[in-house]
Amino acid sequence: MTAMTRPAPTKFKRLADYQELAPEGALDEIFEKADRLKGASMVHVNATTFGGGVAEILDSFVLLMTDAGVRTDWRVLHGTPDFFEVTKKFHNTLQGDRELSFSEEEFELFRFTNEKFARFADLSHDFVIIHDPQPVGLVEYALHTRPWVWRCHIDITDPNPQAWEFMEPFVLQYERMIVSSEAYQRADLAVPQQIISPSIDPISAKNVELSQDQVERILSQYEIPTDKPYIAQVSRFDPWKDPEGVLKVYERVKTQADCRLIFVYNMSADDPEGARIYERMKATAKPYLESGDVLFVRGDDPLLVNVIQRTSKVVLQKSTREGFGLVITEAMWKGRPVVASNVGGIPTQIVDGESGYLVDPYDLDGVAEIVVRLLEDETLADEIGANARERVRERFLITRHMLDYLDLMLSL
Ligand code: UDP
Repeated sequence: MTAMTRPAPTKFKRLADYQELAPEGALDEIFEKADRLKGASMVHVNATTFGGGVAEILDSFVLLMTDAGVRTDWRVLHGTPDFFEVTKKFHNTLQGDRELSFSEEEFELFRFTNEKFARFADLSHDFVIIHDPQPVGLVEYALHTRPWVWRCHIDITDPNPQAWEFMEPFVLQYERMIVSSEAYQRADLAVPQQIISPSIDPISAKNVELSQDQVERILSQYEIPTDKPYIAQVSRFDPWKDPEGVLKVYERVKTQADCRLIFVYNMSADDPEGARIYERMKATAKPYLESGDVLFVRGDDPLLVNVIQRTSKVVLQKSTREGFGLVITEAMWKGRPVVASNVGGIPTQIVDGESGYLVDPYDLDGVAEIVVRLLEDETLADEIGANARERVRERFLITRHMLDYLDLMLSL
């Protein structure tokens, strides 16, 4: 079912809207620091306006930063489907895939697309923040007189050598590199590095509090059956999110506790691999899809994602690699217990056994056992969920993220 057209929002977000949700003093600190940067401008460049965590963050971030007094622009790299095939390959190889290799034509397409965009896009701001590998080459072709920062959201600690040999000369031209957690810093890279965790917007449609009425309306609009409890994973269909593994965990859970599994998925414009994995998963999960035990639900409507995260008994994130995993933060904020792999940026978010569970993604029985325990013990699930929400309030709301960027700009 596709998203229904909803009335357009009637007002733009203001920082003041976050007063009650952010930790005490956060807003005053933002205004004070933004004031010291009055007149400065910043631009963010990524590769898509929606789909994926970066676009999700920028969508609120640019408005709120501007409201705080720092003019903040957002540009989206223009590329052909071929270009995004190449950059998806970079995404996979930089995260370690050694099976893939690049042709000289592919490298050329990458350079050409970056150079073309650099020729017409205005990137003359005081601070230029480039997100992820797709636009990393802009630094080579645009006028570069101010600080340029590469915000790398993926794990590049053990890249495919051919991919890295191509990428490193671009990366070395940046004044600073930002990664999502300590595990991603690279001692062998001659660029100053710093950690900034991503964040969520607590009043976006994806995360806003909903009444029981609204929840029920949306569940019925999208025909989500509620006669049994369900567990969910919300993710693009991506090999690193391990949808096959999620299904295997579900098979184990199902023998001990009757429940459904919901895959909430979307397709982002810069990820052509999604459609192929979706088709493969449809075939693998066929008997479950037919019996209605497993549902593939298109998550284009943020309110639907909100509702599924809120109403799942357990939220899974069984990634084998994960830069950070905003979906985890989102579910934690909704007070749900998350069972997620102990990889990449995930342990930055979850304190094991306190605000969620960290698991070995290859230990399918172990993962299933924790899911079953949470399904059977609602008191435990609620307690873990309450701790999770508090942890997000303290560390992973957008207001903290703004402060990190303001500090970065002040330091540059
Ligand atoms: N998302 C969504 N609908 C979906 C799947 C994902 O809106 O069907 C959103 C999700 O809520 C989150 C983002 O896309 O905000 C994914 O970010 P994450 O960091 O988890 O993963 P990424 O896709 O960036 O690797």
